[in-house]
Amino acid sequence: MIVGFRSTGRILHARLTAACSSDSGFSLIEIMVVLLIIAILLAIALAVYVPATAAANSAACKYNQRVLTDAISIARTSMGAEAVDELEDLRPYVKDFDNCCTCPETGELLKFNPDTGEVTCPEHQ
Ligand SMILES: [Zn+2]
Repeated sequence: MIVGFRSTGRILHARLTAACSSDSGFSLIEIMVVLLIIAILLAIALAVYVPATAAANSAACKYNQRVLTDAISIARTSMGAEAVDELEDLRPYVKDFDNCCTCPETGELLKFNPDTGEVTCPEHQ
């Protein structure tokens, strides 16, 4: 009985060895094809991601300009026309003021014109 088990184990071992040695891994061509496919997928993903990010930053910047312009209007209505000389005067009126007064794309402060009460960004008009 022990001899039968050993012979079955040898046959199984021989089959596994034959199966592994005949297909021992990927060839260079297979790896190159996989890398080419991954590169194509990354190029497609970046081609979609970069314009979407720019559009989102532009929309966020315009939204920030609108929030600050509305805050200027509210502050001038409640405190008088001279209540807002600079953007820092809007801190009590704008929640999350530190993130709202900068452009999301460039990180620069938005421009404030005290005469017209408009807030603009050089990048996003
Ligand atoms: Zn901007």
